Amino acid sequence: MAMSATFVLSIDQGTTSSRALVVDARGTVCGHGQAPFTQHFPRPGWVEHDPQEIWASVEIAIAGALRAAGIAPEDIAAVGITNQRETAIAWDRETGEPVARAIVWQDRRTAETCDELRAAGHEAAIGEATGLTLDPYFTATKLAWLLREIPGLRERAERGEIAAGTVDSWLIWKLTGGQRHLTDYTNASRTLLFNIAKGRWDDRLCDLFGIPRAMLPKAQPSRSPFGETDEAVLGARVPIAGVAGDQQAALFGQACIAPGQAKNTYGTGCFLLANAGKTPAPPAHRLLLSIGANAGLSGPEYVLEGSVFVAGALIQWLRDELGIIERAGDVEALAASVPDSAGVTIVPAFTGLGAPHWDPRARGAIFGLTRGAGRPHIARAALEAIALSSAELIEAMNASMPAPVTELRVDGGAAANDLLMQMQADLAGIPVVRPVQTETTALGAAYLAGIQAGLWSDPAEVSALWRVDRVFEPQIGEPERAGRMSDWRRAVERTLGWAREE
Ligand code: ADP
Repeated sequence: MAMSATFVLSIDQGTTSSRALVVDARGTVCGHGQAPFTQHFPRPGWVEHDPQEIWASVEIAIAGALRAAGIAPEDIAAVGITNQRETAIAWDRETGEPVARAIVWQDRRTAETCDELRAAGHEAAIGEATGLTLDPYFTATKLAWLLREIPGLRERAERGEIAAGTVDSWLIWKLTGGQRHLTDYTNASRTLLFNIAKGRWDDRLCDLFGIPRAMLPKAQPSRSPFGETDEAVLGARVPIAGVAGDQQAALFGQACIAPGQAKNTYGTGCFLLANAGKTPAPPAHRLLLSIGANAGLSGPEYVLEGSVFVAGALIQWLRDELGIIERAGDVEALAASVPDSAGVTIVPAFTGLGAPHWDPRARGAIFGLTRGAGRPHIARAALEAIALSSAELIEAMNASMPAPVTELRVDGGAAANDLLMQMQADLAGIPVVRPVQTETTALGAAYLAGIQAGLWSDPAEVSALWRVDRVFEPQIGEPERAGRMSDWRRAVERTLGWAREE
């Protein structure tokens, strides 16, 4: 490594596009590149990506980021990787050719397999070992599907000829020119095959799902050596030094390194993660428990995770279906034009409800309409619905945390909305903190790699790079907060079980 190598290259491989960021030693983003790739929907409920196209998009993003930053590959001290989680890819170790398209996390084709395993009584044991629920979302049943459907694949996998893993493993393989088949604990803990207490693949679960151990990557901490880039691939030999799944990377990028610290990403949906410390309780309300990116010398940290299915999507609905705003950003001024929602409450259960209700038959509703209710009240109720859903999730999480969440750090597109952030602070009853730099996912991976490469000394030093843009303090008292949460629960109850079918 040349002395001049002081930049970190962070690769952020997302669900719809791949991005790359060049970050300097002060944590400043010096350049970024981005490339989209094709979404394949071969049948209803199926979602696939072409692994080679994912890789090509990563190469384009890297080239764009280096160009924008005006640096050469030799200037990079370390590479960090963060990625869409759970998506399954299998390839031939000899040729490096994928055996099929990647089966994406959103893909529901293995719902029946999950139902069968549930009926056979396996769910509790799976949950205990993995911290997850038995759902098609996770990797195991997707790999099992490939092994079942592709002729001869199982035999080849058992002979050790096939490599498989999540997107991080595929990118490490490509970046190292096929030299390394690895994954990190955060990604491994989303597969349904990993024992999160023991920190290793679970042989019983591999047998249950029918996954030959020979096809799985070696799993190691997020901050550890993942090999070096092939000179023919990147133009220089650079250590890959940090790897984490996107949500855990974002939690680390938000510098949530102490138990009780939490972040919420306000995108299409909301992803809420909290640092649950080193000795977490079993999660309640079907919240998920996974390994976090900040594994130290004394073992891994755990993260508690819950999500709101419809958040920013509700604002898209106001724009595209109701047509009461032109752009998503217009919702703030419209909502702020009235002092309150005049009793209007929206429950955005468009696709059912997740934690803590878990009702696939719940459907959306607008309650409390009176003759004076108009567009501004609907807009305001929509923002409140996002904040109320997240506040309810925080309450559910607190029941499974060693200590309650004390502060919420925010990112994602809708976190730019000041009114929404104030509502969130009021309804969660804790300060909401928005950082200057909201590229938390890519930054998290950059921090992991930079610490491992010696650019920064430890997580405490990178948390000093994290800077506050604005703090939203709760402005309503506890009785009012409790009253509004209880009104919200009354509304939610009325949406449960509405649809006759899931
Ligand atoms: P994703 O990564 O899920 O595509 P983003 O983080 O890019 O999402 O955020 C986009 C989402 O945020 C959209 O659903 C959009 O409706 C919503 N959004 C964007 N700006 C605002 C705003 N100012 N107020 C409320 N919602 C917004």
